[in-house]
Amino acid sequence: MSQVYDVIVIGGGHAGCDAAHAVAKLGMTVLVAAVRTDRIGWMPCNPSIGGPAKGHLTREIDALGGIQAVVTDKTSIHVRWLNTRKGPAVQALRAQCDKVLFASTYQALLAQEQNITVQEGIITDILSDGDTITGVRFEDGEVYKSRAVILATGTFLGGVIFRGEERIECGREGEAPAKKLSESLSKLGLPLARLKTGTVPRIHRDSIDYGSLELQPADPEHPGFSFLNLPPNDLPRLPCYIGHTTQATHDIIMANLDRAALYSGDISGEGPRYCPSIEDKYRKFPDKISHPVFLEPESTIGPLADEIYLQGLSTSLPSDVQDEYVRSVPGLENARIIRYGYAIEYDYVDPLSVTVYGASKGYPNLYLAGQILGTTGYEEAAGLGLLCGINVVRYLRGEEPLVLSRDQAYLGVMTDDLATKGVSDPYRMLTGRAEWRLLLRFDDADRRLTNIGRDVGLVDDDRWGIYQQREKRIRDLKELLESTRARSEDVQETVLGGPSTRTLAEWLKIPGRRISELVDKGLIDSDYRKDTLMTVESEIKYDGYLKRQQSEVKRLSRAEHVRIPDGFQYGDIDSISLESREKLTRVQPRTLGQAARVSGVKPSDIAVLDILLSRAK
Ligand SMILES: Cc1cc2nc3c(=O)[nH]c(=O)nc-3n(C[C@H](O)[C@H](O)[C@H](O)COP(=O)(O)OP(=O)(O)OC[C@H]3O[C@@H](n4cnc5c(N)ncnc54)[C@H](O)[C@@H]3O)c2cc1C
Repeated sequence: MSQVYDVIVIGGGHAGCDAAHAVAKLGMTVLVAAVRTDRIGWMPCNPSIGGPAKGHLTREIDALGGIQAVVTDKTSIHVRWLNTRKGPAVQALRAQCDKVLFASTYQALLAQEQNITVQEGIITDILSDGDTITGVRFEDGEVYKSRAVILATGTFLGGVIFRGEERIECGREGEAPAKKLSESLSKLGLPLARLKTGTVPRIHRDSIDYGSLELQPADPEHPGFSFLNLPPNDLPRLPCYIGHTTQATHDIIMANLDRAALYSGDISGEGPRYCPSIEDKYRKFPDKISHPVFLEPESTIGPLADEIYLQGLSTSLPSDVQDEYVRSVPGLENARIIRYGYAIEYDYVDPLSVTVYGASKGYPNLYLAGQILGTTGYEEAAGLGLLCGINVVRYLRGEEPLVLSRDQAYLGVMTDDLATKGVSDPYRMLTGRAEWRLLLRFDDADRRLTNIGRDVGLVDDDRWGIYQQREKRIRDLKELLESTRARSEDVQETVLGGPSTRTLAEWLKIPGRRISELVDKGLIDSDYRKDTLMTVESEIKYDGYLKRQQSEVKRLSRAEHVRIPDGFQYGDIDSISLESREKLTRVQPRTLGQAARVSGVKPSDIAVLDILLSRAK
């Protein structure tokens, strides 16, 4: 091929889609390759987006100008707020989407971009000249050249599906694996290892006794993720249900444990710690008999409309055992499995070989994003893809990379964790990973990141206008609450709990009080969006905590701004321990703050490094 693309993205999954979209929006040409182009944007597991921390990532992607939240809002069929009775840091939306429409919407958004070319086929080689990547070769020998490559191949490299005694070489069910590309990566010197994930059986919706299950209600307002405030889509709203495993489930699984591929010795990769298979749950916690099973629809159209996903029952057991244990759940006695669950093992690239901004340490024009980098989840993949898309363009333009800090975004927490600590099991975002989580709330992702997205060039005038309007609404509402004293006796009695000279803002600070009560009493207009109410409520109610966290961030921020030169030679520093020298050489931290987070590096060694760096400066 004579054309040289600016960027080739290997992979049309969640990482590849947001990466390619960002590159194209920033004005560069991009070729997206996928094993099957009709599966671009496909969700191989549960078609759900969000929940605490993962939902925060989706909001941050949106705030920066990425597309995952828009695709979610256009295709959601069941949306709920989670953790509404808990603190503001862990509240988030979760949406069940239509799997078929989710993929076709991603495909349509990519098709709108003139800079994007899509190519079906399996890439077998990444081509290089010294430490520069020059392009890729497809299975049929065709070579495509580019100035940079983003690797976003998910679970496809060396993918093997395990179900009981069955072993099938697959990228994921129904799609060919990419075997040769692993060899090419090894030849380039990228460190590969194995990880594992799994999925659940899907059953026919007409084979369920819904009367024995608990209905899981959706939010009637059908709220959206995107700050663009898209109108609710007009898809059917489908219900979700909850059931529970029983003693019989436990007994069937324990009796067949030796048939689970997971314990056959054939799988060497670790599975996701926070999303274990049902056999793992019973083996590790044999006294816990009842586990929840969430029954969730997959689609509203086509054959998938018949399929119900059994969240909580991920497995590597053989099909006959899956039939037996699924039917031990009350309500599923007559369940007919349409597709059986399986475990999948695949190659991933050690994220310690990648910088905090997504570039390979050995090849500055090779970027990596998504599951290939040891993560799991659509949100994690799309977030890393977006950042790689932004940074590959900045690299090609000769600009400094965008690096988000841990106090700025969950995206910053994730990139820092991956590049600093590596992974031992598939990395999934959790609120507990963020030390400043009150500063990284679901409601305020735009206030943290939309300015940055604007500077980067991804936030267009429409989004910028909506952002500024929301800022004004927030300012006006805060002013109203800070300046309004309830004068009428009725308001004093019902809202303030008796005669009072408090402002509404002061009243809101009382533990247990919620801003929604002021809306219910008609003291605040009812047309405020929930996320705007959440922002104002948190900023008033937790003002003290927020200020404390901000000043702590400031106190610690000096180390985050002390840059360590690229290629810094730790081996020459005798005054720090051998262990610290080895670990710092491996991680090559970008700042003193990052160096301090490398596990096993002593604080006293960081102090020495600090002195050396300031002397060198
Ligand atoms: C069975 C299974 C169960 C999962 N369970 C969960 C779960 O419970 N919860 C959760 O959050 N996440 C789960 N995941 C993970 C989630 O699906 C992924 O993290 C997410 O899809 C990763 O996105 P990605 O873009 O990195 O890769 P993918 O979405 O896998 O996309 C990879 C893309 O790369 C392309 N590709 C690969 N190799 C080549 C090649 N050589 N040439 C050309 N194209 C290539 C493919 O065609 C595809 O387009 C599961 C994944 C699987 C497979």
